[in-house]
Amino acid sequence: MNRGAFTEALAERLFHARREGGQVALFVIDLDRFKHLNDTLGHHAGDLLLAEVGERLRWAAAPGELMARLGGDEFAVISPVADVGRRAQELVTALSQPHDIYGRQIAPGASVGVAVFPQDAADASDLQRYADMALYRVKTGGGRRWSAFDAELRAESERRRTLEAELRRAIPAGEIEPWFQPVVDAADGRIVGVEVLARWRHPEQGLLAPGAFVPIAEELGLIGRIDEAVFEAACARAAPWVAEGLIEHVSCNVSPRDLLDPAFSRKLIRRLGQTALSATALCVEITETFLLQDLALSRRHIERLAAKGVNIALDDFGTGYSNLRALMHLPIQTVKLDRSLIADVAKDARVSRLVGSMLHAARALGVSIVAEGVEDPAQAIFLRAAGCDRMQGYLFDRPMPADALETRLRAVAAEASPRVAPARRRARA
Ligand code: C2E
Ligand code: CA
Ligand code: CA
Repeated sequence: MNRGAFTEALAERLFHARREGGQVALFVIDLDRFKHLNDTLGHHAGDLLLAEVGERLRWAAAPGELMARLGGDEFAVISPVADVGRRAQELVTALSQPHDIYGRQIAPGASVGVAVFPQDAADASDLQRYADMALYRVKTGGGRRWSAFDAELRAESERRRTLEAELRRAIPAGEIEPWFQPVVDAADGRIVGVEVLARWRHPEQGLLAPGAFVPIAEELGLIGRIDEAVFEAACARAAPWVAEGLIEHVSCNVSPRDLLDPAFSRKLIRRLGQTALSATALCVEITETFLLQDLALSRRHIERLAAKGVNIALDDFGTGYSNLRALMHLPIQTVKLDRSLIADVAKDARVSRLVGSMLHAARALGVSIVAEGVEDPAQAIFLRAAGCDRMQGYLFDRPMPADALETRLRAVAAEASPRVAPARRRARA
């Protein structure tokens, strides 16, 4: 049964349950390590495994149950059972037994989330959403278990609904503002650029960091509008700093979701044209997860931006796939080493060797390196000696509002030797 037929069947079951006063449990199932197995064993083995799982689910069906594959490695069971917990555990156990794939014993493990009509949800779309939330909680906890929708998830669901409504209002209301964190030259500590980081000035909750709203904005498809708003506001503030020679570049973050919009790079270039910032002073930071999505489309965006002179940086390098091929085959000029690597760089000899060889590889490929999250002098000393180009972190500055940064930049410029500063200004004039 496919997703369409499944949605119809669920509506029909709910219709009858409503009329006859019955209950309907919806179990959603996800294989824990499917992506990994598919990548390592190949797509044929992956397809075979999914077929086996589907078959095993059909065998495991209790009277009155309907099984469906919702797509990918996601399955669902619509069930009239009363003892939901016991049934969920049976499903986890049944799907955790190894499968024989080309003579190998493969046990991908399964996670199950469940929600029940009518006590949890009054309609099909809430029922699905709630079962998904329960599944998500299991997955983030490591999988191989089941979880039921409960009071904790209901509170979370309500929080999200409110947040959603507020976020939709916040963007046009101008509550999302750009903050700036300096990026310094590793050799002399001079501020060479800024990274723009979004903050939400929430009317009741105060200032919110991106962790509190970027993931939900991505889920709701609102991230593109946030990134646009941040970009415009940031350019308006930072373009004069670049023009005055206070900084050389401005880095903006874009979500991997943005890269799925076919018009993304054209729109960005058009908006850039409306600002006073030159393309060569702009850096666009993207995380590696785009490599897992629509690579052909992402490549087109990256190439189009690079052709205009925009610098492309690969963000959070060292956390995900750390794809060196991407560095070779895409016009990426900068790599940002993730904070998690920098944290141990001066403490753990293996991490320092790893970072040292990453810096070496990046140099060989001709890309420049920014170390993120530099918090103590020992880290900075190591990175400088290992040939890192630029650094960013609390050791130098925390992210700050535009006014604070402007004050700081002017103070630094005034402090610089008075003989040097006018000479520089003359040279530019
Ligand atoms: P990111 O791009 O990796 O940004 C760096 C994060 O590290 C920032 O967190 C920054 O405040 C923090 N940070 C910088 N130096 C240090 C340090 O020395 N120690 C520690 N512990 N942290 C440091 P922030 O501002 O909370 O942003 C989190 C993430 O949200 C960013 O990670 C970025 O992925 C995303 N983000 C921020 N602004 C935007 C935006 O406008 N659009 C999109 N799509 N994502 C954004
Ligand atoms: Ca970034
Ligand atoms: Ca980063």
